Amino acid sequence: MGCIGMRTKEKIHTSLSQPVVDDEKCTQCLVCVEKCPLHALTLVDKTISVARDVCFGCGTCGEVCPEGAIAAAVANVRELIAEAASVVLGQFTGKPILLISVLLDIMELCDCFGLPGKRIADDIGYLVANSPVAIDKASLDLVDQQQGRSVLRSFYPMNPLVQLEVGKHLGLGDLEYELAKIEIQP
Ligand code: SF4
Ligand code: SF4
Repeated sequence: MGCIGMRTKEKIHTSLSQPVVDDEKCTQCLVCVEKCPLHALTLVDKTISVARDVCFGCGTCGEVCPEGAIAAAVANVRELIAEAASVVLGQFTGKPILLISVLLDIMELCDCFGLPGKRIADDIGYLVANSPVAIDKASLDLVDQQQGRSVLRSFYPMNPLVQLEVGKHLGLGDLEYELAKIEIQP
């Protein structure tokens, strides 16, 4: 996400990812209203209304709707981030890449937010790999193993693997990995 331009970033969070409601299918059960992490959905005149200035396109509403009545205009933000990573890494085709995941100061919220929220895991260290999908899967697994639960799911009722599954589909690596521990003496 950090390697793409401002206009694309804005679209990823708005016109491409914000949800569209199919009123024919919607039963007004309000599950999406309850689960939206930013409280961006309300029922207005028997229609689910999206606060466009609040919604960041996470895709939770689409995953929890039992009727398939609400979905991102194009794709949710996690799918689009994987697409963006694919485009950025495509610039290095044929060249060696090295990825570093910094598992330090692991906080509740994305750095898009003004304040990071609370600390959700203890520091783990650095991961180094050449597969974007594998390094993110290992990062997720290490945090979950440390905490003994699916940490991201405990905050947001959405599948934390969507981004990685799309990345795998786009050829950014596999979900399987092997960890080799390197201890660096001070
Ligand atoms: S995409 Fe996310 S933030 Fe936007 S309305 Fe749906 S659940 Fe809320
Ligand atoms: S979860 Fe689906 S069916 Fe229920 S109110 Fe939201 S859009 Fe309508």
